[in-house]
Amino acid sequence: MRKQIKGKNIVIIGSGVGGLSAGILLSHMGYHVTILEKNARPGGLMRSYARHGMDCPVGVHYAGALGPDEPLGKMFAVLGISVEDLFFRMESGAVTDRYVFDDFTFDFPVGFDAYERNLKQACPQDAAAIDELMANLRRIAGQMKDPSFIVNSGDPFQNMDDFRPMGEWLDALGASARLRVLLAVPCQLIGVPLADCPLIFHHMVMAGYLMSSWRLMENGARMADVFAARFRALGGEMILKESVGKIFLAAGGVTGVGLVSGREIAADAVVAAIHPKVVLDLLGDGALRASVAERILTLEETEGVVAVQAAVDARVHKAIGHNIYRLRYDEQGFIGDGIFYQILPGRDPDTNLLSMITRSPYSDWRAWEHTRTGQRGADYEEKKMRLAFDLVKQAEGIFGPLARLQILDVFTPLTLRDYMNCPEGACYGVLRSARQLLKIASLNNLPIGGLCLAGQNAMAPGVLGSMLGSFNAARQIVGDERFAKELGPQL
Ligand SMILES: Cc1cc2nc3c(=O)[nH]c(=O)nc-3n(C[C@H](O)[C@H](O)[C@H](O)COP(=O)(O)OP(=O)(O)OC[C@H]3O[C@@H](n4cnc5c(N)ncnc54)[C@H](O)[C@@H]3O)c2cc1C
Repeated sequence: MRKQIKGKNIVIIGSGVGGLSAGILLSHMGYHVTILEKNARPGGLMRSYARHGMDCPVGVHYAGALGPDEPLGKMFAVLGISVEDLFFRMESGAVTDRYVFDDFTFDFPVGFDAYERNLKQACPQDAAAIDELMANLRRIAGQMKDPSFIVNSGDPFQNMDDFRPMGEWLDALGASARLRVLLAVPCQLIGVPLADCPLIFHHMVMAGYLMSSWRLMENGARMADVFAARFRALGGEMILKESVGKIFLAAGGVTGVGLVSGREIAADAVVAAIHPKVVLDLLGDGALRASVAERILTLEETEGVVAVQAAVDARVHKAIGHNIYRLRYDEQGFIGDGIFYQILPGRDPDTNLLSMITRSPYSDWRAWEHTRTGQRGADYEEKKMRLAFDLVKQAEGIFGPLARLQILDVFTPLTLRDYMNCPEGACYGVLRSARQLLKIASLNNLPIGGLCLAGQNAMAPGVLGSMLGSFNAARQIVGDERFAKELGPQL
């Protein structure tokens, strides 16, 4: 966003963690903010949903870096939202993730020293590579704790080596397949394959969870409600069940938005906490130079997922305090498929929730591409249930027979596409691969006055990445100087 905005009226499109964080921050800084959300309830991916009285998570299973001197924790404090009210902390040294392979098991713990120990034990032949990895991780963690990480352009990483693809870096270190496969798992949290994942994104994700790891005390619905309540308490207005259909422009800048219902809302700036391809659509033909539009249109997406939510007998299947990844890999250290599991406390002492997530390319669901949620017919339901029972069978390899199991829900890339309005159900928005770095960087400087992106498509996915993108959007609106002066001391 090049031109500094003059007025105080801001429209934010989307009420995910990205839209709500930007809304809270800008309301706090004296702007009149209206958030427009197409769904009936706020929260986007952060919001969980209920099935048969059980709360089912969507996009917040755990989060890192929420400690008081850590980046996400500091951003929560600036927003005026209590971390302890929403999350509980996993103790240092405790297992965050257990990776289960055919031939070995690895624990990803909280804490850099514990992680280094576990890695060296699992991959004794990679000691030199692990030393370099740990030095990088500790350096990047230090940079993430520096106020410049949030205050400046959000980019204190000027070292070009940090943007190398992980594959190239691991080749240079002669890393074993086993080390590669262990390092590939965090990539799944941002949807970028290890070989093409820029070192900085990979290390930021890992460093965040190594600093501290947290789970929601209650659920994502409550987290969404707390964010929405904070926004409203600061005077923000939220309009639900209203889709934005058009962004209006005049003289190279935004003037407001048009809703699908026909209503129009004037604005001095529009923060789009949604997918950039949707933004392009809302701008209409000719709003952006053909080359810029082409760059956005040809962005590769992250892959979709299928998630199965099932009720299990709590007396047999106790809630587990860490996550489990079941993974298979080839001799090059490439993970072909992986399944993420959580067993969470359920609605009553007898019932727990088993959540399972695995990758699912959009192309597998093309047959129903032109249908909407709830109207996809028996073939679609059958395919979902086949997949669900296949996942249940695989889960029994880990948890034993799943007594009294009841499938509560299955969501697919099409569900997420319709719910979030993101092309191809791209879980983590646009693919942040090394190959796409330049294309993606240009998204942070849209050539239209008063228009900027926020949320996971602005800088990086995840709660941390989405919030960083929103702080960056607010900085563009209020200006570097004011942003640094007012927020700097708190960061
Ligand atoms: C299955 C899954 C698991 C995940 N697990 C984790 C995890 O454990 N930890 C973690 O940190 N991250 C996780 N993530 C990632 C994290 O959930 C996202 O990065 C983050 O929630 C994105 O927030 P956002 O605000 O950018 O977008 P969204 O949450 O997608 O919000 C966008 C909002 O915009 C609305 N919208 C879209 N178009 C319009 C329109 N035209 N008009 C009005 N409203 C519109 C949508 O309805 C939606 O509410 C997970 C993601 C997925 C999919």
